Amino acid sequence: MLGLAVIAVTPRSIEYLSGHAAAPTDDALDPGNGASSTASDAAAARPATPPAAAPYVTRSVTIEHSFDSAALKAGVSPQVAASLVKAFSAKVDFRRDLQKGDSFTLVFKRDPGDAGDVAADGKPVAAKIDLGSTTHTIYWYRKPGGTGSYYTLNGNSTLPAFSRYPIAFTRVSSPFSLARFDPVLKRVRPHDGVDLAAPVGTPVHATATGRVKFVGWQRGYGKVVILSNPNDFSTLFAHLSRFAHGLRRGQAVHRGQVIGYVGETGWATGPHLHFELRRDNVPVNPLTARLPVEHRLKGADREHFASQAQALASFLSS
Ligand SMILES: [Zn+2]
Repeated sequence: MLGLAVIAVTPRSIEYLSGHAAAPTDDALDPGNGASSTASDAAAARPATPPAAAPYVTRSVTIEHSFDSAALKAGVSPQVAASLVKAFSAKVDFRRDLQKGDSFTLVFKRDPGDAGDVAADGKPVAAKIDLGSTTHTIYWYRKPGGTGSYYTLNGNSTLPAFSRYPIAFTRVSSPFSLARFDPVLKRVRPHDGVDLAAPVGTPVHATATGRVKFVGWQRGYGKVVILSNPNDFSTLFAHLSRFAHGLRRGQAVHRGQVIGYVGETGWATGPHLHFELRRDNVPVNPLTARLPVEHRLKGADREHFASQAQALASFLSS
């Protein structure tokens, strides 16, 4: 979508001798496979196993024009490239943060057929993006019996989390509705958001990480902030009394950051926050919409993941 590019691709294959202490095993990668312990027991009992090829292949790519074209050069499908963008999207804005010369590194299972449940469909088992001043890494993990997902090194899901409410409100004074009698316009029209009653000056928080798409005055909305959020969501906060100091278009915000304060500017019959949630620019009910919520690995999953990620980290950094 962002055009073709000339890419410098540097595929590297990392070899190590069989029995290397840091060698990741299939056990670490596949806690759900009960047969793997038997298999490795058998392998251990066999003396003088010939040196095996490294189970992983590392590929580093320098971005010349766009992540998409660089990812294709690194050998991933457009679908896999999209899933990587999604996994990094809570931390990296691919339209703004990437610059020519930034690089990323992908670690692939050499033969995905060995353990088809480990990052199947050509997905890398680990990925690192190097933005010059910062780097971000993600690791694939599949819970036994579950579907796989990318996690950060500390075991947090890469799916960006959303909060349900932007304020500690007292009550919903007007619900989301396809047809309601508008008290200001005196006619029936859809109510594209919810009204949350709160005193003037109550802090309004971003419900997810995002970028300021609009900050200013709009007819009806009064003082309004619109944020673009991950996964094609956007959020709108209207009738504000004032904006957070220095808030400007294009600024990155994090979940929970104060972006403004409740007021009654624009067409408002009293102090409240008019809050809209849009997905692909279509209004959805912010109180009932399915939202990505915070998720971190726990217990045995966390331990399995940690050993797997530690092993893969050496492939990312080399
Ligand atoms: Zn409203």
